[in-house]
Amino acid sequence: MKQAMWAAAAAVAMFGGAANAQKAAQPAADPAKLSAHIKTLSSDAFEGRAPATQGERKTIAYIAAQYKALGLAPAGDHGTYFQDVPLRRFVTPGPITVGLTEDGRPHALRELDDIVVHTLLPTSRVDVKNAPLVFIGYGVDAPERKWDDFKGVDLKGKIAVVLINDPDFEMDPSNPVYGRFEGKSETYYGRWTYKYEAAARHGALGVLIVHETAPASYGWATVKNSNSQPQFDIVRSNASELHPLVEGWIQRDVAVQMFKAAGLDFDAEKKKAQSEDFQPVTLKGETFSTDYAVQTSTIVSHNVIGKFEGTRWPKEAVLYGAHWDHLGIGPPDAKGDRIYNGAVDNASGVSAVLELARLFSQAPRTGRSLYFIGFTGEEKGLLGSEYYAAHPVTPLATTVALLNFDVMNLNGKARDTALRGNAKSGLDDLVAQFAAEQGRSVTPEAHPEAGSFFRADHFSLAKAGVPAITLSGGTDLLNGGRAAGEAAYRDYVTRRYHQPADEWRPDWDYAGAIQDIALYYDIGLYLADHHVWPDWKASAEFKAARDQTAAARR
Ligand SMILES: [Zn+2]
Repeated sequence: MKQAMWAAAAAVAMFGGAANAQKAAQPAADPAKLSAHIKTLSSDAFEGRAPATQGERKTIAYIAAQYKALGLAPAGDHGTYFQDVPLRRFVTPGPITVGLTEDGRPHALRELDDIVVHTLLPTSRVDVKNAPLVFIGYGVDAPERKWDDFKGVDLKGKIAVVLINDPDFEMDPSNPVYGRFEGKSETYYGRWTYKYEAAARHGALGVLIVHETAPASYGWATVKNSNSQPQFDIVRSNASELHPLVEGWIQRDVAVQMFKAAGLDFDAEKKKAQSEDFQPVTLKGETFSTDYAVQTSTIVSHNVIGKFEGTRWPKEAVLYGAHWDHLGIGPPDAKGDRIYNGAVDNASGVSAVLELARLFSQAPRTGRSLYFIGFTGEEKGLLGSEYYAAHPVTPLATTVALLNFDVMNLNGKARDTALRGNAKSGLDDLVAQFAAEQGRSVTPEAHPEAGSFFRADHFSLAKAGVPAITLSGGTDLLNGGRAAGEAAYRDYVTRRYHQPADEWRPDWDYAGAIQDIALYYDIGLYLADHHVWPDWKASAEFKAARDQTAAARR
């Protein structure tokens, strides 16, 4: 691993001069084109670009027309630019009956107030009667960190009760095992999706995650709101390998009471879970029951994929991506606007990918193939990229990297750039090196505990082992420094993010986005013209998945 990275670093150093000379001749992204793409994609006519709507049809036709004009070869299904992405929609019309039995006494729970449950398995009814409950600590099985909370426990027919985040989050740093999960920084093992998947792999009938605000990094309201919406998943043949029948969260108070009824102290059991010697604990005398109807339907959305085939290693691929979807039409804001235009999120990212394709269209073809992907379903849970990772159009084993954009910096030139989360791959080093060539630095993730790494499409590819990043743009602006960058960011998050007001603006300054596009151009060009394989660092959660296909990269 280290060797490969040194080789990459040496190559960067060697080619640095040539890259500079080349760069002088390279055309930069065109602010007028970026603006025009964003203005069109985020116009009211595109209805907020929700999957499987008229807005989708317009959006994917627009992207495909751009690909065609730039000479990209279709790389979707059946010689088209479109990859069908079937999504399954799950609605729980209610009522949901849910409760515990404690020493023979029923204890009803209130859906949305005490507990939320949903299911992502194709079924019309969930009916669980008196399933035993087992506390499995953090529910982590991480051989590379020498940590296994399951200890071979049989979860068949049982409900796993699990803590959110990973064992480090609330551990005393003086504990000798502290640091295996990167301290406060959230690892994959801390994510709620991981909890469901890991317990499903161990045969659990259901999983209840204990909600605690600090380790979850959001309040119960977030859990409640997201579970009040229809749930989506990609259509999978192996859904039961990833999803237990019942997936849910319980309020901390409910857990405390549940442990108490079983003669256990929640805080004491939680402390025990912060040890590698933790053993699963059956909550004695306690069972879980629930009964509710599930309505499922399938919609078909689309990823939009074009490529420039490589001249030397066409089977090896560098991917550029950005999600095209947004929230569609929803509840009105104070002005009565119901269209969630998603101009910054993420028409801006799509415009950047289209500009990258245009820049490469004017350059000599690269040694490896370049793919340009508009992902669908990001806002429904990274589903277009998840589907792509399960159905790649070029093998993942020989996919060098995904360079993803989600939200561009439209606040002007920056002295820095930033990555979403601690990516922990050789791509980080490339970003640092090529940013340095631009005279820029990389600002470390400000809030690694919030898990932003897990909330953009690159994560779907990372889970499948492919080195992948999302660049989130700089905040140290030439004009006004960090204070101005932070203010612009806060203004966006509070007044426009995921609101109808995320609309195209005439006053944007594209210079920062152009820097980030140039950075991705340089990295992509380097990766596409050199036979290098940036790898995950030894500590990365995704290294084991990548190592399984190492033979394909010799
Ligand atoms: Zn986004």
